[in-house]
Amino acid sequence: MNDAAIPASTTPVTTEHFDVLIVGAGISGIGGAYHLTQQCPDRTFVVLETQAGFGGTWITHKYPGIRSDSDLHTFGYRFKPWRSAPIASAEEILHYMGEVIEENDLAKHIRYRHRIDAANWSSADNRWTIDARRTDTGEAARFTANFLWMCQGYYRHSEGYTPHWDGMETYKGRIVHPQNWPDDLDYKGKNVLVIGSGATAATLIPAMAADVGHITMLQRSPTYFRSGRNAIELAEELRRLQVKEEWIHEIVRRKILFEQDAFTRRTFDEPEAVRQELIGSVQALLGPDYDVATHFTPKYRPWRQRLAFVPDGDLFAGIRSGKASVVTDEIERFTATGVVLKSGRTLEADIIITATGFNLCMLGDIDFVVDGRRLAFADTVTYRGMMFTGVPNMAWVFGYFRASWTLRADLVADFVCRLLNHMQAKGAHRVEVALRPEDQDMKLLPWIDEENFNAGYMLRGMHLLPKRGDKPEWAHTQDYWNEKDEFPAIDLDGAEFVYG
Ligand SMILES: Cc1cc2nc3c(=O)[nH]c(=O)nc-3n(C[C@H](O)[C@H](O)[C@H](O)COP(=O)(O)OP(=O)(O)OC[C@H]3O[C@@H](n4cnc5c(N)ncnc54)[C@H](O)[C@@H]3O)c2cc1C
Repeated sequence: MNDAAIPASTTPVTTEHFDVLIVGAGISGIGGAYHLTQQCPDRTFVVLETQAGFGGTWITHKYPGIRSDSDLHTFGYRFKPWRSAPIASAEEILHYMGEVIEENDLAKHIRYRHRIDAANWSSADNRWTIDARRTDTGEAARFTANFLWMCQGYYRHSEGYTPHWDGMETYKGRIVHPQNWPDDLDYKGKNVLVIGSGATAATLIPAMAADVGHITMLQRSPTYFRSGRNAIELAEELRRLQVKEEWIHEIVRRKILFEQDAFTRRTFDEPEAVRQELIGSVQALLGPDYDVATHFTPKYRPWRQRLAFVPDGDLFAGIRSGKASVVTDEIERFTATGVVLKSGRTLEADIIITATGFNLCMLGDIDFVVDGRRLAFADTVTYRGMMFTGVPNMAWVFGYFRASWTLRADLVADFVCRLLNHMQAKGAHRVEVALRPEDQDMKLLPWIDEENFNAGYMLRGMHLLPKRGDKPEWAHTQDYWNEKDEFPAIDLDGAEFVYG
């Protein structure tokens, strides 16, 4: 999808009003829509989505092998059992989401090909005015809403992040970013270079290995990987016993979450032991002669970046087969036929894939204005990573790095629905979060603690993100295991909530 291709907008002819407007039809937006129908059945709502279909991440990314890197028991919704292998393809995830839409009659609430450009809050009317454009016709569409539920994810869907290297323009082959995978890319028998070593590279390489001449993963620095069978034995056993799918989903979620919690704690309590385990298991998969010290031994502590799961060790099988290889070095410059590395080594390639990440996008690249003043989210303080000081009647779903995103999408949805019902019960038209007297001297910090999580896209975009305080109320703690108990217990009449 290319925003530049969207026709210029016309003047809107009508304005439609909804109680709630959800931005985005990805896993968060569809989840939000479901929860509204269950928890706030008398509220009207609409979901606006730029793309031509639902799925968000899973419709945007079309590169070979595209799959989840966390299990679908927890990446799936808590209310809809996942019945297949835990690591799922984009197609399977889209199918699952499609069932949620169909089973709950959500399609009538979704407007595709509507790109929101501007959101204006008026305190005089206590409502948002949303200006959108039809991406097919360029027609302008205006909506008003009492509450804005931001489910637009965290990165720009129209294009991924590609750094600039000297000489790039001289390269005669094709440069492709996985986020904009061309339908006509023919890599059969070709020499392919993948720049990057995150989950995307780890997915692409085994998926392409059988067809290419050779595929090289070029990384500046190594990443941690976990590997295992793409199956959950407990789920298989329960299925054999003909236990109901709803039960299996719940039991397996609990098991996974219990184990993830234990693992995450270990990465903090005994990082060196975990590090050795992770590296040791890669060595076992690649054999004793493979140079794991150079290529699979990261410099950072485990979990400071998302840990990529390699189902059935397919990346390592690709390397063992000789079809794929890893080079750990830095690019000095591009040439007409490949790249020259800082070590002086050259890598020739017919196709270069830049698996170099995302462009962080603050709230859907929408121009936000509150009572005539343009909003800079970096000037706000976040309430638990879901609301912002000075921004009335709005919530944002930002998931977890170390646990499945959807765990938080479900939790935030419960919170938003509870808040909407609370407002209705109070007769309130507006809710805003504000620092309490005891928070006035609170130290304001960047959204994410770099020591805790240091993914490139977050660091590149940190200056755009809201501030956090040093209390859990004023931070996205990234801690599902606390939030699952804390969120339902939030006192909506606490001093941090200001109603009007
Ligand atoms: C390749 C890949 C694999 C991933 N795998 C996992 C995983 O296994 N587990 C995990 O927990 N997380 C994973 N993530 C993170 C993932 O993005 C989230 O987990 C999740 O899919 C986000 O869902 P979302 O609905 O919040 O946002 P998105 O999936 O980003 O969807 C947002 C939607 O909002 C729309 N939108 C944005 N701006 C506007 C606007 N202005 N107007 C209208 N519509 C707009 C977009 O078009 C998009 O469809 C992965 C990410 C990527 C890129």
